[in-house]
This record gives sequence, structure tokens and C-alpha cells, in this order.
Amino acid sequence: MNNKNKIKLIASGITLCCCAAAVGAVSVVSSRNGSGAAPAAVLQDEELPVIVLDAGHGGFDGGCVSAEGVPEKGINLSILLRLRDMLTLAGYEVDVTRDSDVSIHDSGIEGLANQKSSDMDNRLALFNKYDNAICVSIHQNQFTDPVYHGAQMFYSNSDSRSEQLARSLQSSFSELLQPDNKREIKLCGKELFLCYYSENPTVMAECGFLSNPEEAALLNTEEYQEKVALTLFNGINSYVSGK
Ligand SMILES: [Zn+2]
Repeated sequence: MNNKNKIKLIASGITLCCCAAAVGAVSVVSSRNGSGAAPAAVLQDEELPVIVLDAGHGGFDGGCVSAEGVPEKGINLSILLRLRDMLTLAGYEVDVTRDSDVSIHDSGIEGLANQKSSDMDNRLALFNKYDNAICVSIHQNQFTDPVYHGAQMFYSNSDSRSEQLARSLQSSFSELLQPDNKREIKLCGKELFLCYYSENPTVMAECGFLSNPEEAALLNTEEYQEKVALTLFNGINSYVSGK
């Protein structure tokens, strides 16, 4: 197995319930981040980027699980489908890695590890399918201490646009949904396979902690999933418009 495949397995959720907890999901800062975005610009429809959405995990890979036994894969998908509808209504072209509870590995692949590797390759291929795309991978977090809660954005490639997208999304959570959220965006490395190898601005959005009972209960409701989707929608819009 080459290094790239090893990294994929680490990031895939087979050895870790979720990706970000292992890379410092609990870091906080004392002050909110500014957006740091470029001056506002009005874009014509034809200039809008394609939005590629990824619902983390799926099929045999449930991702992390709440104390009540709810896996993140369904929450991720529900948020994605709502966000897809909002973006489509707003005029964006949207593509998704999955729209049902499946692993997207190639047919004929045997063994869970190989299937997971193929699944991650196919997700990455969609991230890199378009020249002008924005990619958001939707996940839920988990940590050993149940006290931690709140969304946190992770990015990995050295493209400054990914950092800017992460700031826009993080700010949107602070402004719209979680006013006490003081988390800062976090730069990671190859352990975030999709983010690292994506050639477009890419963020992994950890929308909340399933290890926190109150947040897990919220994340399992359609009403809160809608709010999370709207928060992500607002952050994407802010990034695209440069606000
Ligand atoms: Zn996950």
C-alpha cells in the first residue's frame, strides 16, 4: 500500500470515527475571526463556480456515532440535500458525491478497505472534475470529552482560497447559528485526503459534535439540519461574492 492509500484509510473513518477529532478539533481562540475576504464583487451567473458537495461516509461506513446510536452519515446526507436545494434555487450548478446512503466505490471491488479506498478516489475525482468549483465536505465531529461542541472548519491544501472559504463558513456559523462559537479554522495536512488533494477551494465542515449529547440531539432534527444547511449556504455565498 502506498502512502496515499494509507492516508486515505486514516481519513476515511475506518480507523477513526471521524477525521477532525484526531487533528485538534478542540482548539479555540479568544476572539472571532474576521472574514479576510476580498472586496465585494457582483458575479454574473455564468461566472458562478460549480458547488461540489460531499456527504461524508455512507453505506457500510457510518462515521462517528452519537451516544444514542445515530451515525453521522445520515445527518451529513440530510444537510447536503437541503443545502443542494438552496444552492440550486440560488442559481448555482451543484454536484454531489452521493444522494443516498451508499459507499461510492467502483463495482467489483472486494473488501472494506479496498472499497473505502475506491470510494475516496471517486469523491476526489468529483472534487477535481471542474476547473471552477468550490468543494465542501460535510461531517460531524466526535471527541472523548462530551463537553466540546460547535462547528469547526478544516482545510488542507496550500491554496489561499481554501483558507478564505473556511473563514467564510466559520464566520457564518458564529453569526447565524452559534454566537458563542469561538473556534478557529484549522489547517491540516495529508490526513485530510480530500482537502489535501483537491485542486479547487475545499473545506471539511465539521458541523457539530455527536459526542456532545445536546448538540447530537439538535443535529438529529430536521429543523436544525435545515439551519445548518442555511448557515453553510450563507458562508458559500459570502465567499463567492467576496463579502
Ligand atoms: Zn466524518
